[in-house]
Amino acid sequence: MIKANNPALKSWIEIEKDSDFPIQNLPFGIFKREGKLPRVGVAIGGYVLDLAEVALGGYLRELHVNLQIFENNHLNQVIAMGKEKCRQLRQTLSELLEAGNPELRDHPDRQKRMLHKMSDVQMLLPVRIGDYTDFYSSIDHATNIGKMLRDPANALLPNWKHLPVGYHGRSSSICISGHSFHRPKGQSKPPDSDQPVFGPTKALDFELETAFIIGQSTAMGESVTTAQADHYIFGIVLFNDWSARDLQAWEYVPLGPFLAKNFASTISPWIVTLDALEPFRVPGYKQEPEVLPYLKYTGDKNLDIKLEVLIKPERGEPCAVTRSNYRYMYWTMEQQLAHHTCNGCNINVGDMMASGTISGPTPDSFGSMMELTWRGSNPLKLSDGTERKYINDGDTVIIKGYSEKNGVRIGFGECKAKVLPATTI
Ligand code: MN
Repeated sequence: MIKANNPALKSWIEIEKDSDFPIQNLPFGIFKREGKLPRVGVAIGGYVLDLAEVALGGYLRELHVNLQIFENNHLNQVIAMGKEKCRQLRQTLSELLEAGNPELRDHPDRQKRMLHKMSDVQMLLPVRIGDYTDFYSSIDHATNIGKMLRDPANALLPNWKHLPVGYHGRSSSICISGHSFHRPKGQSKPPDSDQPVFGPTKALDFELETAFIIGQSTAMGESVTTAQADHYIFGIVLFNDWSARDLQAWEYVPLGPFLAKNFASTISPWIVTLDALEPFRVPGYKQEPEVLPYLKYTGDKNLDIKLEVLIKPERGEPCAVTRSNYRYMYWTMEQQLAHHTCNGCNINVGDMMASGTISGPTPDSFGSMMELTWRGSNPLKLSDGTERKYINDGDTVIIKGYSEKNGVRIGFGECKAKVLPATTI
């Protein structure tokens, strides 16, 4: 077991029982205090541990790295230290925060410098994202979409069980939780018209996803095996792949998603390390037919992460509309990465690879409005009495997620964004 994951560990910082950030988590992010420059931080309970201050205090000497990597507006240089040093960093922080360690516990002056209340900081995008890829790896999602758009009897296309299908997305519009964006406009072809029209989307949807962050670069021509893949994955965030279904239906043939996807995506601010999620590994989906040798893997490579989506109307309380779990994924992250690099495509630290919509097997666990309302034919009723086929202007969509076992809850915080009306110009 990784030492920092020990369920018996307690911190001298008081942490609420249902907090996403106990001492066993220690996820990494970028925070900013008013009037100060952005810095690298680690979440602990309701606080952010300021790693630049921890380094200035002399506690990170054994890492032998330039302290400036903690005074950055991105985590790329910290991640680029490599898996071993990142593991060592997490272990050092775990020891500093552990109940028996007086170094910070008994020194309020040091705590004042190194700990900031979460409510006093603004979170920024945690990484400079180079390339972004989105997969399509939940079998229930792919089956639902196939049933609705193609042939209910042959919902999955012939390639689906042989390779993790994906597309290259756009990183410029990936935003940090808490942002808002205008309803996108574009071209669609209404079913009752033989000509396309231009205007705001009438079918704005969320996609419940997670995304993993690449922790080590490869050279062109190099391939990562499923056995090596974990070494190349730094950690995971929650991800909302906003989608305009009417635009998508018209534009996607024959090259796949384009403007229906690239107007906005939202991620949660804290990158939960793959190390912290190790205790929540579960067996992977049984894959039949057998996959090609380069996609085979051994061990428990799926993850038990409980996922939830809530819609908060402009004037209303958040209402849960679906509950799913990462474990419903057919393809594992390790297989996705092995497939992505099998042709020699190089990857870089900070690249982001999203899971694809994570739907469960039951209608209350589907990961998008398109599935939950079956293309609008079965609207959802929210707690304020209003109905939704898709997402309305003024709605805030919130994704939450956590793993829990042996009394330890490893959470992701929130991934939320608000939809504003389309601009008139
Ligand atoms: Mn997607």
